[in-house]
Amino acid sequence: MRKNIAAGNWKMNLTLDEGQKLASEVINMAKGEVSNDAEIILIPPFVHITSVEKLVGSAANVKVGAQNCSDQGSGAYTGETSVSMLKSAGVSYVVIGHSERRELFGEDNALLAAKTKAVLDGGLKPIYCCGEKLESREAEQHFAVNKEQIEEGLFGLSKEEILNVVIAYEPVWAIGTGVTASSDQAQEMHAYIRGLIAEKYDQETADSISILYGGSVKPGNAQELFAQPDVDGGLVGGASLKSRDFVDIIKSF
Ligand code: PEP
Repeated sequence: MRKNIAAGNWKMNLTLDEGQKLASEVINMAKGEVSNDAEIILIPPFVHITSVEKLVGSAANVKVGAQNCSDQGSGAYTGETSVSMLKSAGVSYVVIGHSERRELFGEDNALLAAKTKAVLDGGLKPIYCCGEKLESREAEQHFAVNKEQIEEGLFGLSKEEILNVVIAYEPVWAIGTGVTASSDQAQEMHAYIRGLIAEKYDQETADSISILYGGSVKPGNAQELFAQPDVDGGLVGGASLKSRDFVDIIKSF
């Protein structure tokens, strides 16, 4: 059956000392307090990955993720980071297609499909993000927008490949705004996305894929969101920068 996952995306925040302190606190608090079997993923900036990975060590259920990667294997791509580099640094998951990458860095579905494939070919797991902007929801285009992002980004994959993908539904209007999608809105979209996968592949495949919700998840709303049948956890931004809040979110399954 699919995993429950709490992933903390630090974005471009924290110095090395601050990141090490946060990671140590989360690892230690989780060890003492978390009794569920959720997978915890710490997603620091690239430059902190090696240090965070050392701190994680063999901690049960804690993995390290990266926020992005190149679709290319190696070579003259100044400023880029390849999947094999991430793998050699101990990374297990790579976030692909966060709305900030789509919006601020012009990443389109074709590039995100190539990055997703590169992550899978390199033996890591993509956390593929989708989500509509406010204007699309207001125009009742939100299902169409997410369908296109899922189809163009993921549906070139084989069944064996897509089984290693985690999906994160992150409505753009809820990211970093303090506005959370209601648990009904989250459940509705997660069920819709799972239905798309069942149609393209089969129900068993759809039922095996973890679909995370992202957008202002905090200790006060995590439990209700995670209780929805098709919500398998959260991709958490702001609240993952505070160890107490993030561990309380992890405890909400
Ligand atoms: C995110 O960055 O993926 C995110 C969901 O951010 P926040 O939790 O701050 O809304």
